[in-house]
Amino acid sequence: MKILVLNAGSSSLKYQLISMPEWDVLSKWLVDKIGKWTVIKHVGKIGKVEIQGDLENHSIALKKVLELLVDPTHGVLNSLEEIDAAGHRVVHGGEEFVNSARIDDYAKTKINELCEIAPLHNPANLMGINAVEDVLPNIPNIAVFDTSFHQTMEPSAYMYSIPYKYYEKYKVRRYGFHGTSHKYVSYRAAEILGKDIKDMNIIVCHVGNGASVSAIKGGKVVDTSMGFTPLEGLTMGTRSGDLDPAIVAFLMRKENMTIDEIDHMLNKQSGVLGISGVSSDMRDIEDGHIAGKTQETLALDVYVNKIVKYIGSYTAILNGCDAVVLTAGTLENSAYIRKMIADKLGWLGITLDESKNDFRWEERIISTPESKAVLMVVPTNEEYMIAKETYDLLK
Ligand code: ADP
Repeated sequence: MKILVLNAGSSSLKYQLISMPEWDVLSKWLVDKIGKWTVIKHVGKIGKVEIQGDLENHSIALKKVLELLVDPTHGVLNSLEEIDAAGHRVVHGGEEFVNSARIDDYAKTKINELCEIAPLHNPANLMGINAVEDVLPNIPNIAVFDTSFHQTMEPSAYMYSIPYKYYEKYKVRRYGFHGTSHKYVSYRAAEILGKDIKDMNIIVCHVGNGASVSAIKGGKVVDTSMGFTPLEGLTMGTRSGDLDPAIVAFLMRKENMTIDEIDHMLNKQSGVLGISGVSSDMRDIEDGHIAGKTQETLALDVYVNKIVKYIGSYTAILNGCDAVVLTAGTLENSAYIRKMIADKLGWLGITLDESKNDFRWEERIISTPESKAVLMVVPTNEEYMIAKETYDLLK
């Protein structure tokens, strides 16, 4: 089954064409800056192609990409009829979608209703869905939600301590995000360790530009650090993560800030960018710290401290932890930050095997065999997971 996997942003589209169940990635590409000066980076049969031009919207961008897929030189298909289905990343599925779902009018209405609480993501995801319906009207579309895997949380984990009426009226609660990644990484970790996930307590740290931690018991999420929106939890590239909510009212009064300004500050100007004043990219933060720069060192310390704090509290929630699994951009690539975290996990009985830590982007156990809990890296693969969910649902 050939499945088109789509991750649509407001002005970008990431795609992979994957043949399942054998998981053969036939081609992948990135369309950036839709509506302005669009760039398509396509990796196909004969390597990379880069095309530029003004593509007005997602449907036009998708048409262009499909032309490339059947292009006699660069393409990987003889005809578009070979595409059997599309799997879409949809960020917010609310309480409605506890599993991936086939997209019909009802699902689209629900995804649209959730735009109110996911205004940065769900509208873009819908544009991707509409583009496929427009250009490939005969194939089934499946939505795979970032929130679904976290729907196993109990009310004690997902309720906020504010008046209950806001949950009843607006469904204000913890949802959690990056669920597709947490699911893939935890199941894969159990597989690598040769254990049944049903018998395991796992903590997954997904730390890239966005970052979240989750506590997984027997394959089910019991708690996760992102909340009503992806702003809560860890210190991120530009997002603040946890803070005293009173700071919002204090700064609004002191600085005469509007709601939109404070929202922008917390989402776009905070995190390691906000503390360092230099960059949201952990490569720059790490380099600055190694060069002895004060602000970068502070940003890195806050960043690592928060990760360790969550690992500690989730160990308590799980009543013990068998494996801490590191994933996403920062933790798949930075041996330095992995070591900083590992050095603070001695209380959990974890000792880093430094001879195993010097690598990027590999599945690897990095704790010593004597460690009471395993510390390991499992690169995430959300596209594979979307293809798998699509395949499983249609099969
Ligand atoms: P996103 O949340 O956008 O999906 P990714 O998981 O792709 O993010 O992570 C991207 C981030 O990973 C970069 O912004 C950077 O902070 C971090 N990163 C990538 N490579 C390294 C590295 N070698 N060292 C430290 N951090 C890195």
